[in-house]
Amino acid sequence: MTQLTLQGVTKRFHTAYAVDQVDLSVPDGKLVCFLGPSGCGKTTLLRIIAGLETPSSGTVRFAGRDLTHVPANRRDFGMVFQSLALFPHMTVAENVAYPLRLRKLDKTAQKRRVAELLELIQLPHMANRPVTQLSGGQRQRVAIARAIASAPKLLLLDEPLSALDAKLREAMQVEIRLLQQRLGITTIMVTHDQREAMTMADEIVVMEKGRIAQVGRPLDIYRDPVSEFVADFIGLGNILPITFDGRNRIGLPGGQQIVVNATTRALDAAGDIRLLIRPEDICVRSATASPGPNILAGKVTFVRDVGAAIEATIDCDGFTLTAATTPRETPDLQVGMRVFAELPEHACKLIAARAVH
Ligand code: ATP
Repeated sequence: MTQLTLQGVTKRFHTAYAVDQVDLSVPDGKLVCFLGPSGCGKTTLLRIIAGLETPSSGTVRFAGRDLTHVPANRRDFGMVFQSLALFPHMTVAENVAYPLRLRKLDKTAQKRRVAELLELIQLPHMANRPVTQLSGGQRQRVAIARAIASAPKLLLLDEPLSALDAKLREAMQVEIRLLQQRLGITTIMVTHDQREAMTMADEIVVMEKGRIAQVGRPLDIYRDPVSEFVADFIGLGNILPITFDGRNRIGLPGGQQIVVNATTRALDAAGDIRLLIRPEDICVRSATASPGPNILAGKVTFVRDVGAAIEATIDCDGFTLTAATTPRETPDLQVGMRVFAELPEHACKLIAARAVH
């Protein structure tokens, strides 16, 4: 069932459009990430859903009700915003109990609920500790417990992990995701980190200049981006300018030709087309293998070997490719080596070139 529906949501600040004609449906119990570069309108859209910002036009509906002009404190949504810090003069338990106190829940019920929530975030032993004495990750867990204390129907998270170091951040991504799934709470999270969105989301909403560029499941967007902007933003990719015969043969920047599975979507782009191939789809072979179709000769110009994975930059006479491989597949890959890079037909995607403004 669809819980949250946005229709034609637009927000203008003076003459600039922060959010421009956004239509979106968020299904019940899912975690949806708003993903995009700085300034693309993610936070403004989340604030509109929260009721902290009124749209210039369009409607916000939740569970069938029009909430467009309902103030934030009457929406009963849980929020963890970067700027919405915990109360520093209170203990962990007092912070979590705060929304329950506001709702005038009786003392015994408050205590029971706080204990339940502290159990859920695995901090029951820290109930009486001032929040100032917690680590960043623990503080974030308390903020989430406080946000879900009064069992909101929708949880809104704005870059909740951005202050944490990389390792803790990854651990918290998994923790929040598991908690969200356990509670089945519909959640919208803003992030500019594509890895974070890929790890956590059921659906990603990629935003570009106030508009939705693409909505879909993380792997679908990764494998089948609709445009150069989306392809570039989600994951690493080789994006090459090409010439296209309108069927399945393309000319690469160096003049070599390869064959691709052309898609209808790319053909719609009428000439302004790019080739996308992900690094892990390129097969790197030693120069002794015999060349064949879609196999390009090249020279290794850079190797990033981090133990489990190898990333190689290959100069293919006219353009460079980044290929991802493993020590098992390509032992002894070294700068200066001559190699063959195979671009499998099925992995070559044609996408619309980024619009130039
Ligand atoms: P970031 O990742 O940097 O937080 P964002 O994608 O969340 O960016 P928003 O904060 O939603 O982007 O801002 C979208 C656009 O609207 C930006 O150009 C921003 O400068 C503008 N904007 C946001 N809030 C206001 C405001 N209160 N007054 C004027 N312009 C604003």
